[in-house]
Formats: sequence, structure tokens, C-alpha cells
Amino acid sequence: MRTYEVRTYGCQMNVHDSERLRGLLEDAGYVRAPEGDQADVVVFNTCAVRENADNKLYGNLGHLAPVKAKKPGMQIAVGGCLAQKDKASITKKAPWVDVVFGTHNIGSLPVLLERARIQEESQVEILESLDVFPSTLPTRRESPYSAWVSVSVGCNNTCTFCIVPALRGREKDRRPGDVLAEVEALVAEGVLEVTLLGQNVNSYGVEFGDRYAFSKLLRACGTIDGLERVRFTSPHPRDFTADVIEAMAETPNVMPSLHMPLQSGSDQILKTMRRSYRRDRYLRIIEDVRAAMPDAAITTDIIVGFPGETEEDFQGTLDVVRQARFAGAFTFQYSKRPGTPAESMEDQVPREVVQERYERLVALQDDMAWDENKKIVGQSVEVLIAEGEGRKDAATHRLSGRARDNRLVHFALPEGVEKPRPGDLATVEITYAAPHHLVADAFGSVRRTRAGDAWERAQDAPASAAAPGVMLGMPVIGKPAPLEPAAAGGCQVN
Ligand code: SF4
Repeated sequence: MRTYEVRTYGCQMNVHDSERLRGLLEDAGYVRAPEGDQADVVVFNTCAVRENADNKLYGNLGHLAPVKAKKPGMQIAVGGCLAQKDKASITKKAPWVDVVFGTHNIGSLPVLLERARIQEESQVEILESLDVFPSTLPTRRESPYSAWVSVSVGCNNTCTFCIVPALRGREKDRRPGDVLAEVEALVAEGVLEVTLLGQNVNSYGVEFGDRYAFSKLLRACGTIDGLERVRFTSPHPRDFTADVIEAMAETPNVMPSLHMPLQSGSDQILKTMRRSYRRDRYLRIIEDVRAAMPDAAITTDIIVGFPGETEEDFQGTLDVVRQARFAGAFTFQYSKRPGTPAESMEDQVPREVVQERYERLVALQDDMAWDENKKIVGQSVEVLIAEGEGRKDAATHRLSGRARDNRLVHFALPEGVEKPRPGDLATVEITYAAPHHLVADAFGSVRRTRAGDAWERAQDAPASAAAPGVMLGMPVIGKPAPLEPAAAGGCQVN
């Protein structure tokens, strides 16, 4: 059996697509390469938004060239946003690459690998639009208890710092029945938490003419037995409507957390970014969310040093951070993104100025988050125990997971208590707050769940030779990325 490895760069969309790539490859008879072994097929799922993404890709491809020369039959494939952008120039610069495929045709990977092998020449296939929604592809899911579910792909907005619309195309919405069928299938497999995923979930329904489609979807998720936690990402302030806030507040399994990108607190910069909302609207949404859900934890994305940003504009961002009291923020220093309108804008802010503003922003945001976290001390919270989440504290045997509001919690397990599994739920009392996490040294109880059973089954009977996971015919992706400041590995979407 031929082995494979998928290397993923970038945002949740890529994480999502990599789950599908693994599913496709396993469906075609490949098995995941054991840790430390050189795979027969290496797939790069690339990101085009990071600075120097292309240099890094060609560096990695360069490292693999001599490996491939010594390993007959080895193949290298490059997909994702950078492949969609650079197309055939990848095989010109790195002729040892066997397959190049784009964001619209990930389903072609096994066929392209086969064709490259038989014809002994590189295959480049890039489509300009999506033929079928990728959710019909088989998927190798990493987490048996927490899953992503796509509601849409692509985006109709034109934010000037973002390459997504150019590479992922216009928004395509899945039908609500398909989304719900997938969620139900996941819950039947043991999944306890889903995160609905789209570039702009608030415009969900635009394609089939229902502007209330997203709130209806949230309410429909509320009727699924066994689905304990529903989250979504990312919302867009322009399209955020009151019916969504009402649905969040009135649907018990929709979690009291909201990740809503701000990007800037200056109306002038928002305009240059083509963000089509202004700071007052953003703050009003936060007020409305807090009025409906006083305990909601609100997190955000912020870009510092966008072209033309003055000290006054930056003060506007600091001011919104103070007013919004974010529980966490992904903070980014602006850097030119190839292919975006902002790349050629005048008034690029000098690096050292961006760095200095960034440090001030992070310091303020940390203070605000710390203050917000201190309010939780003494409260009892329910934690979904996660695998590989946060730090490992062997000395105190601390476990980690996410509270209902998505805060990261580390908690100690008293001696004699049976160790819970990832996917189980623990109730603990918060005893200490840090800016980016909470600690609970007062243990309450553990509820063993079907999700924990599913995790145990996945360990006992791995579907792949090398790694546990869950294979479903429906598309699902791995566990949601932790929402911790400065931890974002992905693109600045929304
Ligand atoms: S930042 Fe988000 S809303 Fe703006 S164009 Fe990119 S994907 Fe669309």
C-alpha cells in the first residue's frame, strides 16, 4: 500500500480541505504514513496569504527533491491557494513536482496522481470555478467529538487586504437540508460539537434568496438530539442581523461565544479596507449580543499598520478594544499580500511603526482579556476535554479543554478520579485567570459522553494504519482552531 502525508498551511478552509484530501486518498487505497516515515506521496495544501508563502513552498519543495531522487515512485502534489494563484509556474520552478491542483478541484487529486504515474509527466489542473460543492467528497476527520461543517465556500466581498475572493471564487451556499443531514450524521457517529464554517456565515442564503437562512439553520441545529455545542465562524459585521442574535440567545446548544472580526477601529481605514461597516455599527452589534447573552465571550481579528493608518486611526482601534472588552484577539501586523489591491496602495506604514503599534495593541488587549477572565474566577464551568489543547502539565496532571464560551481551561484531576477521555465533559470551578487561559484546581465532576466513547473507539480501531480518525462519507473537518491571541496560523479573513 502506498503511503501519504498531507502538509497543511493557512486557515480553517485549508484545514477543512486537507481533511477531504486525506479522505480522498484513503478512499483510493493510500494509507497515512507512520510518523517519521517518508511518505510515498507528499501533498502540500498551500496558503497564498502569508508573507513569503511562495519562498517557503519552494524551499520545502527543494528539500524534497533529493529525497524523491532516492525514492523511486515517490510523488509530490501541490494544491491550495498558492497553486490556484501560480498554476503551471510551480512545475516550471520545481519540475520534480508531479501534480498541481487548485481550490476548485481537490477531488481530482487521486486521478491526477495516477495519471502522472502512468504518463510519467507532471499534471496541472486548475479550474476557475467550483463544479460541485466539496462536501460530497469523502473526508478523513481528525476529531471524533468536534467537527467543522461547511455552510458555504467563497466570498462575495472585496476586502482590499484579502486574496480569498480571487482564489476561492464567489460565495456558494449549501442547501440547509444538506448541512443538517451532515450534522445529524456526525452526531449519530458521536460528535458532540459542530462549528458551522463559511467565509461569511451571515450572508449564508444569499444564493438561494433567504436572508434569514443562517438564523434558521442555528435554530434547526437546536433541535438535533445529542448535539450539545454549536459554534460558527466567521461572521461579518455588515451582514450581522438581529435574527441571528435572537437565534443564538434562544437556542440552548448555540454557545455563548462570538468571533467577529473588527480589523480596524478607524472608519477611514475600514473604508480603505472596503469593509462596508463602521465602528459604531460594530460596537452596536456587540452591545446587542451582550444584552441578549450577558456571558458571551467575544473575540476578534485586528490588523495593525494597514496602508494609510495614522496614529489617530490606530488610537481608534485601541478605543474599540477598550469598549468591546474582547476575551481574545488574533492580532496581525499588516504585510503586503501578493495579488491584493492593498499591495499597491501608497502610504505603506514603515515596519518599525507597525511593530511598535502592534506591541501597544497586544499589551492593551492582554490587559482587557485578563480583566475579563478574572470575572470568571469562582464560577463553575463545563469543559469539553480536548486532545492536544494547550499546555501539557505532567507534574499536576492537568487536562485541558474549552468552556462553553470557548475559553481555554486547564484543570487538575484529583487522585483516584478515573481519567476522562477527550470528548467527555468536566464541570470545574475556576480558581485562577491568566490573559489567555483559565485554571481550575477545584474539580467538580465528569460526564462520560458518547463523544468520549467515539474517541475511544477511534483509538482501538484506527481506520488507517498509522493514525486514528473517523472516516465518513460526509465532509467534516478537524477540531476548531483554538481562539488565542496571536495564535492564528491562517489568513486574515473577515
Ligand atoms: S476578508 Fe472575509 S469578507 Fe473580506 S473578502 Fe476576504 S473572505 Fe471575504
